Amino acid sequence: MKNDYGLSIWGDGNFLIDGETVNVNHGLSPSLLEITRHIREQGYKGPLLLRFPHLIRKQIDTLFGAFERARREFKYSGKFHAVFPLKVNQYPNFVESLIEVSGRRRYGLEAGSKAELIIAMAKTPLGAPITVNGFKDKEMIALAFIAAKSGHNITLTIEGINELETIIEVHRECNRDASAPITPKIGMRIRLHSTGVGIWAKSGGYSSKFGLTSTELLEAYEMLRQEDLIGSLAMIHFHIGSQMSEIGPLKKALREAGNIYAELKRRGAENLHAINIGGGLAVEYSQHQPSRNYSIKEFANDVVFAMQEIARQKGVEEPDIFTESGRFIAAPHAVLVAPVLELFSQEYHERSLRLKPEGQNPPLVQELYDLYRSLKRTNAREYLHDALDHMESLLTLFDLGYIDLEDRSNTEILVNLIVKKTVTLLERENSDELKRLQNRIQEKYLVNFSIFQSLPDFWGLGQHFPIMPLHRLDQRPSRPASIWDITCDSDGEIPFDPDAPLLLHDIDVEEEEYFLGIFLTGAYQEVLGMRHNLFTHPTEAVIEFDEEGEWSVTGIIEAQNLMDILEDLDYDLGQIDKSLKTQIEDSEHLNETEKQAVLGKLYLYLSENSYLKTIQSRLGGE
Ligand SMILES: *Cc1c(COP(=O)(O)O)cnc(C)c1O
Repeated sequence: MKNDYGLSIWGDGNFLIDGETVNVNHGLSPSLLEITRHIREQGYKGPLLLRFPHLIRKQIDTLFGAFERARREFKYSGKFHAVFPLKVNQYPNFVESLIEVSGRRRYGLEAGSKAELIIAMAKTPLGAPITVNGFKDKEMIALAFIAAKSGHNITLTIEGINELETIIEVHRECNRDASAPITPKIGMRIRLHSTGVGIWAKSGGYSSKFGLTSTELLEAYEMLRQEDLIGSLAMIHFHIGSQMSEIGPLKKALREAGNIYAELKRRGAENLHAINIGGGLAVEYSQHQPSRNYSIKEFANDVVFAMQEIARQKGVEEPDIFTESGRFIAAPHAVLVAPVLELFSQEYHERSLRLKPEGQNPPLVQELYDLYRSLKRTNAREYLHDALDHMESLLTLFDLGYIDLEDRSNTEILVNLIVKKTVTLLERENSDELKRLQNRIQEKYLVNFSIFQSLPDFWGLGQHFPIMPLHRLDQRPSRPASIWDITCDSDGEIPFDPDAPLLLHDIDVEEEEYFLGIFLTGAYQEVLGMRHNLFTHPTEAVIEFDEEGEWSVTGIIEAQNLMDILEDLDYDLGQIDKSLKTQIEDSEHLNETEKQAVLGKLYLYLSENSYLKTIQSRLGGE
């Protein structure tokens, strides 16, 4: 039985297994292994973050395509627009690729802070929409006025009444002497009754941090009218929460928002023309069974249909539809490639046994050895139970001082070998016992990356990401695996889950390389990543395909070197440099030539990044 690591569930056709390797299903279909080796040969070691702009394009095309299709099918007269929420990924290699591949679509950006607004103003093509959400101070609002005056199509979404007061204040200041006053468009975020589901649901709902209640909406409407700004009210906005696993709550939210739109329009908001449905479109991260109960087609159809119904019932024009889906657009484009450094229980090997000559081993150890030698499918279960019993007895004997450390070591090795062999023999049975056994013999794979830096949502929320080896896929993996990262924090582990088992290959890292790919890491993980133990953003590279399907690597940005990391923490580098140097120069253990050599080495290390480079391996290391 080959293991496709759930690729058919989470892969969305983006990758394919070709013989031994997993390949990019695009252009000339290079394997991730050959791309990785190509980059490593240029001297970049440690984990690599590979970006694939063609997968950003694919997601944008899918999103726009689904809504264009739905609009045609329902003969919907409102338009469709989308913006990318920068909080999902603000890295320049990503944002610049996004703008480039979105081409003629007029795909815009959403900003939630001043820094993001500056990125949006600099990178959004004029005319494509910019939306601004989140808490805003006077300066942020003034920046939006500057954007509007520079020709940007920008909408400020108000989250509370006092923001509107500030907008009015800035409007008075900025437009006092203007011959033709220019203000950003204004959107109102509504506080929904309905809530989403799942671990990210809390950004919607009545107790949400954001949005205006009905009373506040009416109040805001009056304020705009009195200030003669009602013509700027353009958009109703809501956001139901991220990674919606079901579509039911969205339908409820659409009806709520649609009715508020229609009510305000009938009241006299003549330029109100858009509903912004926020983000929340889910990504299928599961390697075992699908977790999302809707398709993108159904999502688009539901949105268009709901809006059409309400517009018809209330006799108002069909609104333009905006989305701010971020996770859906960004997640697939990035793959983290991380080298395996070590397998922890490799010592449980037959060759490590230290059996004494016949007759000198404790009888139970001899018995374990015989069980191991005569284990078959038909007797595996029984022998295994015997072995576990013997182990209990032998450990007690050790505690009481009747057997020695070598006997105890033999016990551990033999029981481990018996469990391993039993698991293989009983593999076809999907029994609870098998799961328990797998759990027991799990192998700990030490992997050169930081979970805190590269998979923070796993650490914080238990979000699963698909993991698979990049090669050996023509061989059956036999080791139930847990993944250990290189931070010295025991939370830096992806434990083995018997209900969603990850099986990896039994490899000898001293003889061969073994790389894991962690997929769908392009949304949130990079920016939420933290420098626990001072491991920084991994080396990243952009993989582009030309018209012939040939790939090339561009935009390599190496992980920060040790001194840069310390500088970021505002250490005084001059002082650190001096202190290290003086210690060596004053050392009594070294002569002059040795001092020169040690200094040279030190400076080389300081220029390198903090991921592991050398390991016991004969391959020359990481
Ligand atoms: C976070 C956020 C989004 C993006 O949500 P995704 O789940 O990534 O699609 C969109 N709009 C608002 C207002 C947000 O806060």
